[in-house]
Amino acid sequence: MNRIFSGVQPTGNLHLGNYLGAIRNWVRLQSDYECLFCVVDQHAITVWQDPATLRHAIREVTAGLLAAGLDPKKNVLFNQSTVPAHAQLAWVCNCVARMGWLNRMTQFKEKAGKNRENASVGLFAYPNLMAADILIYKATHVPVGEDQKQHLELTRDIAQKFNNDYGVDFFPLTEPLILGEATRVMSLRDGSKKMSKSDESDFSRINMTDTADTIAQKLKKAKTDPEPLPETVEGLDGRPEAANLVGIYAALADLTRAEVLARVGGQPFSAFKNELTDLAVSVLQPINTEMARLMADPGAIDAVLRDGAERANAIAQPILADIYDIVGLLRP
Ligand code: ATP
Ligand code: MG
Repeated sequence: MNRIFSGVQPTGNLHLGNYLGAIRNWVRLQSDYECLFCVVDQHAITVWQDPATLRHAIREVTAGLLAAGLDPKKNVLFNQSTVPAHAQLAWVCNCVARMGWLNRMTQFKEKAGKNRENASVGLFAYPNLMAADILIYKATHVPVGEDQKQHLELTRDIAQKFNNDYGVDFFPLTEPLILGEATRVMSLRDGSKKMSKSDESDFSRINMTDTADTIAQKLKKAKTDPEPLPETVEGLDGRPEAANLVGIYAALADLTRAEVLARVGGQPFSAFKNELTDLAVSVLQPINTEMARLMADPGAIDAVLRDGAERANAIAQPILADIYDIVGLLRP
């Protein structure tokens, strides 16, 4: 059986990295697999979130997923906190995972920054909750951006140790699905940093809700180098900003980077940025319009999430019961 699970945090504006690295692939997978897609609100609170802003962001991210083309009838679409089994299994994962494993997680180091003593325990333990998100459905495949690869490896380690410790063949060893030409979209201001919702600078990313003018402005200001675009993919080596923009173009146009460079190689960035703006606007504008339409009726979004929660709970509860039996947690 193939079952897909993936999630997105309601930590701010959905951006082009989320779309090209994850959401667009979810839309493409939904016809062929049983899929669960989750707005992971409990992950969001590992760093401070204003409650009213968080509530709004949960609805907005849901609207983004629907507007991008996820069918809430075909897929199970819900927010994490409405399915308590995620947090319940996360406790078991906390007890299976080793401190040393979590100490190696690069995302924690990046997000905690210099003041690690002051980071929340939740931020440190986050990968265990992510493992639980996946394992509570015995998901076999997880479509994500490249930044989540290490967390997926940890999920497999937890699954394997659980199976070994209890002498069972219970959890599958989940495979990541890292698809497309833009699996790691970089910041527009700094080619060595990934594009993130939580980046302080709005000019570092293209949001799915940006207007055509804003997209044009952000791409105009995007960092580049003084050379024209290379003719070949090898010519992108050592040019992270150029590689990033060409990768974005390729993903948006559904071409390979080589095909893009065959067309635009030798152009100065100014001309290329104009073409990229038109392309980005043509892909994002319809999603943007549909998101605004959906956000005008928050009740309808809540109804989608309620229906998803009911269906997700129905899958998760029996699996949690099996896990409790395996572990020896008496269910009198
Ligand atoms: P945050 O900064 O709060 O962690 P984020 O921008 O990293 O937000 P997430 O909600 O953590 O977004 O990730 C949602 C999905 O988008 C994941 O599958 C992740 O791998 C993917 N993703 C996030 N950023 C990028 C990126 N820059 N390029 C490609 N995929 C990305
Ligand atoms: Mg992230």
